[in-house]
Amino acid sequence: MPLLKLQEITRQYKSGQIRVNALKGISLTVEEGEFVSIMGPSGSGKSTLLNIIGCLDRPTSGTYELAGQRIENLSDSRLADIRNRFIGFVFQSFHLIPDLDAQANVELPLIYRGMGARERRFRAVQALEAVGLAERRHHRPSQLSGGEQQRVAIARALVGDPKVILADEPTGALDSRSGRNIMAIFQQLNRERGITIVQVTHEKDIACYGRRIVYLLDGQVEREEILEDPQVAF
Ligand code: ADP
Ligand code: ADP
Repeated sequence: MPLLKLQEITRQYKSGQIRVNALKGISLTVEEGEFVSIMGPSGSGKSTLLNIIGCLDRPTSGTYELAGQRIENLSDSRLADIRNRFIGFVFQSFHLIPDLDAQANVELPLIYRGMGARERRFRAVQALEAVGLAERRHHRPSQLSGGEQQRVAIARALVGDPKVILADEPTGALDSRSGRNIMAIFQQLNRERGITIVQVTHEKDIACYGRRIVYLLDGQVEREEILEDPQVAF
């Protein structure tokens, strides 16, 4: 059973009289344990697709199964459950809360689950250790470099034990060395823990850390490429 199975997904945005067909029939299957990069020019539908994969948005038509579960007709609260159970998100601009230290940022998803403080702290420190930042757990975002902030964001994505991490331009705000560091963490999580990674990027250099590249053009899959020798970041 594939982890993600999208068939003939369309997404039309309507604003007043204007309709934009952002996705025009996308079919995509991702097996558990894959590392997939989605590439394409600005406006090709990458973020729209990632939002649908992440259950943040619903398709206009088509079917989507996540871990065998059809998601199109689920209620918003069931969708939120599935999202919390299976998916970790990483964004270009980190989306950390400035007034909270790294550990408290990482604990947030666990607070929403109603987990007790001791268990939360244990898991948050473990997740920060996985990204090499345990010793900075009491730093606030403003006291961390961009690369370190993104590592905190990855720890926050990891702390709920997701099956898949969805990353939208995860290196877009970083210099190339920090970006490579983020790719090293993704490759390690993918290889050592079997976490599926789906990342959106417009940079070929970054896409090449994945094993498969899906090229979008104008809301459709233009082609796919399997890399026999993906770039190794560490
Ligand atoms: P990408 O991530 O590849 O840049 P997007 O998925 O953001 O592409 O956008 C695909 C198309 O859908 C673009 O034409 C964009 O302007 C349009 N679009 C995206 N989000 C919205 C929205 N909320 N309302 C209207 N149009 C949108
Ligand atoms: P990024 O490249 O950083 O992902 P995008 O331009 O793809 O940024 O989109 C940022 C946000 O703006 C997304 O939530 C997207 O849905 C929304 N958006 C993109 N294009 C439009 C548009 N034409 N009208 C309204 N919202 C849009």
